[in-house]
Amino acid sequence: MKPAPFAYVAPDSVEGVVGALVEAGDDAKVLAGGQSLLPLMALRLGRPSVLVDVGRVDGLDRVEVVGDDLVVGATVTHARLGRDPEVARVAPLLAEVAPFVAHAAVRNRGTLGGSLAHNDPAAEWPAVALLLDVVVTVQGPTGAREIAAADLFESYLTTTIEPDEVLTAVRVPGLGPRGGAAFDEVSRRAGDFALVGAGARVTLDDDGAVASAAVSFLGVGSTAVLDATVGADLAGRPPDEAAIDEVARAAAARLDPHDDLHATAAYRRRLAATLARRTLTTAVARASAEVAS
Ligand SMILES: Cc1cc2nc3c(=O)[nH]c(=O)nc-3n(C[C@H](O)[C@H](O)[C@H](O)COP(=O)(O)OP(=O)(O)OC[C@H]3O[C@@H](n4cnc5c(N)ncnc54)[C@H](O)[C@@H]3O)c2cc1C
Repeated sequence: MKPAPFAYVAPDSVEGVVGALVEAGDDAKVLAGGQSLLPLMALRLGRPSVLVDVGRVDGLDRVEVVGDDLVVGATVTHARLGRDPEVARVAPLLAEVAPFVAHAAVRNRGTLGGSLAHNDPAAEWPAVALLLDVVVTVQGPTGAREIAAADLFESYLTTTIEPDEVLTAVRVPGLGPRGGAAFDEVSRRAGDFALVGAGARVTLDDDGAVASAAVSFLGVGSTAVLDATVGADLAGRPPDEAAIDEVARAAAARLDPHDDLHATAAYRRRLAATLARRTLTTAVARASAEVAS
């Protein structure tokens, strides 16, 4: 099918984008890589009357190190996150996750901002954003505001970004000393949306016991899920195999996954436990390497 008719504008500034969104009303949509929006329009599941392309806005494609944090512009593509040396140095988890997103052709067009704003429950970036406590900047008619990842993802394909706001940047905090993170997922074929994915983040104290930890999941509900209880359950304990296995199983038991034609809820829960155990183990190993060095 072909999309319903729409108008197209491509402002060259964030103010121009916001102006176009305000002028068009609730019926306008920001267009970034188009990798999620255009298929929806082609299927007539979305019929925006105006597309406001952010691809020509100066500065939205920047990758910048600010103190210990990485600031990534909204239109930075998945592919660039996978190859940018500053990303690999300051936020290596982003570089590790990028190749899991779709296929090369999609990664070359699709953007970090687009994925976060779209909030597909099987997408990698919302789960990573929750895990790493990222903060996004959005700009609207009354100025810019920041939204923590914990307050961004509302439900299936829905965020707290208003229709007249545009996401401009994503600030990714560094893990800090003695920190490690990891990500893994299971999909039926390479490049497919994952059945289930999990990320883990661990910080160790000087003695090698857990100071903080968290796990996040994708593909287990209407939006990505952050489980911070894992941190409370592991705090002060040596992160050995038994402890990790126990908290990974408990985290999976707290999930409420769905049945669909790809997998049963029970299978998704098993995958979640396995992936939580695997990513926690890798995150601990990475954090331990930091303690040793
Ligand atoms: C075959 C195929 C396989 C895919 N597999 C995966 C996968 O495995 N994992 C995965 O995560 N994704 C996957 N995707 C989706 C892909 O990653 C998209 O790139 C991503 O979801 C959206 O990014 P985009 O830049 O293309 O956004 P667009 O499609 O342009 O926009 C998506 C939505 O976000 C809004 N939006 C975009 N940018 C902004 C902004 N800056 N501010 C406010 N709102 C904005 C748009 O209005 C729209 O509602 C796949 C897509 C295809 C076609």
